[in-house]
Amino acid sequence: MATLTVSPTDEKRVKALGFLSNKGTDNFSGRIITVNGKITAAQQQCIAEAAEKFGNGNITFTTRLTIEVQGIPYEKIEDFRAFLREAGLEKALCPGPGQLLLAKAAGLRPYGDYGLNVLNSCALRACRDLGAEDMTLSFETNLRQGASLGDYLPCGVIAYGYLPLMTFRACPVQGPKGCGRCTGQAALTDRLGKSFPVVCRGRQYSQLLNPVPLYQGDKRQLLEGFSHATLRFTIEDPARCIRVMQLWREGAPFREERTNGLYLRELK
Ligand SMILES: [Zn+2]
Repeated sequence: MATLTVSPTDEKRVKALGFLSNKGTDNFSGRIITVNGKITAAQQQCIAEAAEKFGNGNITFTTRLTIEVQGIPYEKIEDFRAFLREAGLEKALCPGPGQLLLAKAAGLRPYGDYGLNVLNSCALRACRDLGAEDMTLSFETNLRQGASLGDYLPCGVIAYGYLPLMTFRACPVQGPKGCGRCTGQAALTDRLGKSFPVVCRGRQYSQLLNPVPLYQGDKRQLLEGFSHATLRFTIEDPARCIRVMQLWREGAPFREERTNGLYLRELK
């Protein structure tokens, strides 16, 4: 028999932390938000362990690719949260304002990503008010101006990566019916013969990337005043990721074609 002892106030409190009541019981489903449905193998192991230790052993996925651990008794919610926190599941990189709110509601620490398009202190303050703890600025920022925004939140920029040019709901390789036989990594060629990589995530969203990567490893002096720099890997294989990280650590120049993006552009 279910014993209903959790008060509506407590139910509301844990709901704000991402725990939804399993109707008619004192058990809850804990929600873990993923970034585009992706978690590492180690995180998956940790969630599986937590589901057996604190829940009923079942894990489900919502249509929004959030993970739900079911059947957690009310009195074990804090232990469950502490277990995931210790495994490093406490921060969320948030590409939009909605994710900042969702991450916070789930008890995670939200970090703002470039998709929030922050270019000025007004937008930065708004994101701070929504709970962001730091911000990766829009890659359309000018570095000189971006470095002066840090009053409201620590700010960083993308320092390496094939920058996204466009996001599609329908896979541009296969047409409106979705990815079909698309492998998730393809390319579109323009009339000048330039190849633009296309990356499809979870077969739901596709991104068209710039053909030439941005790289700022040999321009460190321009990154002074920023709290962090992001190396954004998308289509690279592991060996290339390692090479880029070595170049970055050494502050070495990039031997292939690269771009500075819009970082050095001055608006007149
Ligand atoms: Zn596709």
